[in-house]
Amino acid sequence: MGLKTIQDRVEKEAIRVGRDPKTVQLIAVSKVQPNARVEQVLSAGHRIFGENRVQEAAGKWPEFKKRFSGVELHLIGPMQSNKVRQAMDLFDVIHTVDRPKIAQTLARIAGETGQCPRLYIQVNTGAEPQKAGVLPTDADAFIKMCRDLDLPVEGLMCIPPAEESPAKHFALLAEIAKRNGLDGLSMGMSGDFECAIAHGATYVRVGSAIFGSRTYEADA
Ligand SMILES: *Cc1c(COP(=O)(O)O)cnc(C)c1O
Repeated sequence: MGLKTIQDRVEKEAIRVGRDPKTVQLIAVSKVQPNARVEQVLSAGHRIFGENRVQEAAGKWPEFKKRFSGVELHLIGPMQSNKVRQAMDLFDVIHTVDRPKIAQTLARIAGETGQCPRLYIQVNTGAEPQKAGVLPTDADAFIKMCRDLDLPVEGLMCIPPAEESPAKHFALLAEIAKRNGLDGLSMGMSGDFECAIAHGATYVRVGSAIFGSRTYEADA
């Protein structure tokens, strides 16, 4: 189990770049991991977890939440509009708000229930056609739209293109957040979380470096 190693590396990098380590939160990404591995990390005292599928999270987290108090669950994968209500019920934070229809659905349900998870807007910093997220050029307008809907937008999230060096994408996300007065930056994964911390990440999302590699059969 790599939890302690990753916690130490997060803390070291924060200190190295002159940040308070408490301003960087580690999301343990438990998607597709066997329950026994997730349980080890829970037993070690970690409480912040990320899942990328609503359905998968609904199958395992209600039970874990009964057994371990104080779990904070983050949705880091794409959300279809017919899953928004379920996602709002299950997750404390949603990182993948990426289009008007989702924003409107979130606002409508929040109006009904009086509750809404903390929200991050996903930005497609590499403008990749296959990737979710608003384009950098549309980000300011979309952030404004979400705020006009009274949604609790806390920050921005990105997944840089796999084949590029991530630094300029992290810098771009930080710049868009700053000019919009947003403090939260969800960026950095197993391979690049230190670089993300140097660029201001407040949440890093680390899966395989904590849990070991994923087997993707269950994901097919
Ligand atoms: C799977 C996933 C991660 C974690 O990836 P690792 O490389 O295993 O750390 C982070 N963010 C998102 C959006 C993911 O889907």
